[in-house]
Amino acid sequence: MRTLEVAIVGSGPAGLYAAEALIKQAAVLEPPQPIRVDVLDRLPTPYGLVRYGVAPDHKSIKSIADYLRRVLEHEGVRFLGGVHLGEDVTRDDLLASYDAVVYATGAMRDRRLGIPGEDLPGSYAATDFVNWYCGHPDVDPAAFSLDAESVAVIGVGNVAVDVARILIRDPAELRETDISQPVLEALEASKVREVHVIGRRGPAQAKFTTKELRELGELEGVDVVVGAGEHDLDAFDPTGESARLAQTDRHVRGNYAVISGWASRAPAGHPRRLTVRFWLRPTEIQGAERVSGLILERTRLDDSGVFAGTGQQETLDVQMVLRSVGYQSVPLLGLPFDQGSYTVPNEEGRVLGPDGQPLPGEYVAGWLKRGPTGVIGTNKSDAAQTVRALLADLAGGPGPGDVPLPRAGLLRMPAPAPAPAATAADKPAVVIEPGAAGGQSAAGGAGQASAAAEAGLTAEEVAAEAAEVAAMEAAEAGAAEATDLAVLSRFEQLLEARGIRPVSYADWLRIEAAEEELAVSLGRGARVKLPSREHLHRAYGPGS
Ligand code: NAP
Repeated sequence: MRTLEVAIVGSGPAGLYAAEALIKQAAVLEPPQPIRVDVLDRLPTPYGLVRYGVAPDHKSIKSIADYLRRVLEHEGVRFLGGVHLGEDVTRDDLLASYDAVVYATGAMRDRRLGIPGEDLPGSYAATDFVNWYCGHPDVDPAAFSLDAESVAVIGVGNVAVDVARILIRDPAELRETDISQPVLEALEASKVREVHVIGRRGPAQAKFTTKELRELGELEGVDVVVGAGEHDLDAFDPTGESARLAQTDRHVRGNYAVISGWASRAPAGHPRRLTVRFWLRPTEIQGAERVSGLILERTRLDDSGVFAGTGQQETLDVQMVLRSVGYQSVPLLGLPFDQGSYTVPNEEGRVLGPDGQPLPGEYVAGWLKRGPTGVIGTNKSDAAQTVRALLADLAGGPGPGDVPLPRAGLLRMPAPAPAPAATAADKPAVVIEPGAAGGQSAAGGAGQASAAAEAGLTAEEVAAEAAEVAAMEAAEAGAAEATDLAVLSRFEQLLEARGIRPVSYADWLRIEAAEEELAVSLGRGARVKLPSREHLHRAYGPGS
């Protein structure tokens, strides 16, 4: 049987969970479908949001990378880093080279507030700040110098909690993390003493999760304060809905318990303070040359539950504003895009064309598919749904040469294997271990289990996957024989013809090794991120 060749664009959690689902689901088809998956990324490094979105002090969530690396090390998967869709290759190149393409490029752009002063120096998108402290290669390590004493963070989601925590926590606690050295030094030199986290609605409507919220109250040397009277569930919501949610909704009940606990606590006089405010919306960021204040308007719900401003204003004395009001996906050249939801129109992951019908061979997964919601583990079931649709299209698809396709959304059948060419990029042949599928390494342990929990995987999902993987391994033994990995794929031939040398998995391992060496030389933890694109390139480039 011919090998199905699939490209995944994006090596973050959505892309790598899709690669895993492809390998597993293709292996248990009857008969098993040989498959090769190329995972492309514009960056030279894999793991997307896990590497450049999860805060450095969230080590157990970051350890999801240990799980995802098993996917990348699977013999049917290859990493092609440093290949930019839209710059190096086009959508048509991908469609001509593969039987199917799964787009999983996430949501990298910030949403805007649309208020005066938003673009003043000192007003930043939280996405930029997150990218900076996570060492994203697109961001100059010197981009932030923290000379503000007082900072406002707009929004009450988990990103707001992350940026507030990184700003206010004692930087000495970050020494053992992988945070890059220039960023650590900027945090050590930080003048920030107060962070205000500001929600336009109340504690019952806040988006943060309880575990993340609770962590703020456990920071050493930090007083957490709630705006006077703002935790009162009835004061700004006469409908009684907020109070009802705090009784009936587990998420709201948990958050409210934490917030009302803080409200009843007297400040201990710590050197740093985090103030959580509710029912305030920003109307203007003030400043002549840079941010010097933030004007907020008191909000409330009216008797019929309609959200509105009251006209009552207050001004916060802040010198920096971080807008943490959600992420947006960016359109991919030529691919349909819904400008209202900032997602690719799709049905169970099948990309829909302008006529509402599936486009043959094109699929979408993750935040690009459903918007920036959920925890990292949410992408696992999401990707599995997309892959089910993809393989169903294959299973019900036409025979070679059948035209037209009997139903929209069907894949082309795998093309004949290309003639043997040069040897493919070096990579170790490692098979996903049975335990790995459930988020548990062979060593297992509480750390991995809690990572699975934080990633949003339930015990049932973990158990179901262990069984699924056992079935997969049996089927894969036969399927793998038909997959000739010593042959350059059509796409690799295309890259070669254009003089583009993708960053291989082996190159990535060189970057990892350099990060481990850096940690040793600095006397800091297990690894320290290389601080810039140039440093990354030096680690894997020619002569490294
Ligand atoms: P989010 O959860 O959607 O929160 C966005 C916040 O911005 C909400 O409080 C929203 O308030 C507010 N907002 C939106 N427009 C606003 C405006 N014009 N003025 C004032 N406030 C405004 O987004 P996020 O925090 O960026 O997180 C994105 C996703 O990543 C979430 O699913 C999150 O859970 C996940 N994440 C998870 C973790 C973790 O598990 N540790 C860490 C980081 C991120 P309204 O509700 O009133 O619109």
